Amino acid sequence: MLDKKFHVKKGDTVSVIAGKDKSKTGKVIRILPKKDGVLVEGLNIVKRHTRARGNEPGGIVEKESPLHVSNVMLYCEKCKKSVRSKMNVLEDGKKVRVCIKCGDSFDK
Ligand SMILES: [Zn+2]
Repeated sequence: MLDKKFHVKKGDTVSVIAGKDKSKTGKVIRILPKKDGVLVEGLNIVKRHTRARGNEPGGIVEKESPLHVSNVMLYCEKCKKSVRSKMNVLEDGKKVRVCIKCGDSFDK
């Protein structure tokens, strides 16, 4: 089951609706329930300086940092934009998220 707070889940394509990466899209690579955060591939990149350790040279590592879940929306491939989703219950009782505009399912 989906956590109520999370309208997105791992593997979803989402669009950022606030912050420095606004209107960019990417794929959710991790959900951080305790932080209400999502990690999105290639978005909200922060540079971290690391020290040399053993054989690993120090330097700058670029890493995704979490976006707040309220700042991302599902991105609909059909509508080509961020959309609201709604729950549809299938005949077999399975719940799927569908695009509120075109009705396309996000849970295939
Ligand atoms: Zn759509």
